[in-house]
Amino acid sequence: MSTVNYIKSIQAYCSQHKLNLTANRSAVLAILHQHQGALSAYEILAKLQQQQANTKPPTVYRALDFLVQQHFVQHIESSSRYIINRQQQPFAPHPLLICTQCENVTQIGLSASLKAELEQFAAQQGFSLHSQSYEFQGLCSACQARTA
Ligand SMILES: [Zn+2]
Repeated sequence: MSTVNYIKSIQAYCSQHKLNLTANRSAVLAILHQHQGALSAYEILAKLQQQQANTKPPTVYRALDFLVQQHFVQHIESSSRYIINRQQQPFAPHPLLICTQCENVTQIGLSASLKAELEQFAAQQGFSLHSQSYEFQGLCSACQARTA
């Protein structure tokens, strides 16, 4: 999907759900959509400053807070970077495969049965899950081929 169409679809989703996709939020989302991998808040800031020179860090952080809360964007906790959620509705966090060598990040789908099983394990411990972020670290196939 082109970034223009992607932003349009998110705008439609937001107006349906009475969410305010401000110009800054939409600009940050567009930057992440155009980028293949993950970006740090400062890399996003630098890109945003190319469009609006006076953009300050809090603008980016506030936009990211909203985008992560809505699961349009996923925060990678182990590296404190952000990646667009390429899966469409329902928006939810997805398990991430993170290459420790090239930092490539791949989102994977979690089957409903595996998800239910994890939730059941948590419930058996009397644990209420807030975050469902699963981050797996290893070597991607390209890096394995390079080191072989
Ligand atoms: Zn790699």
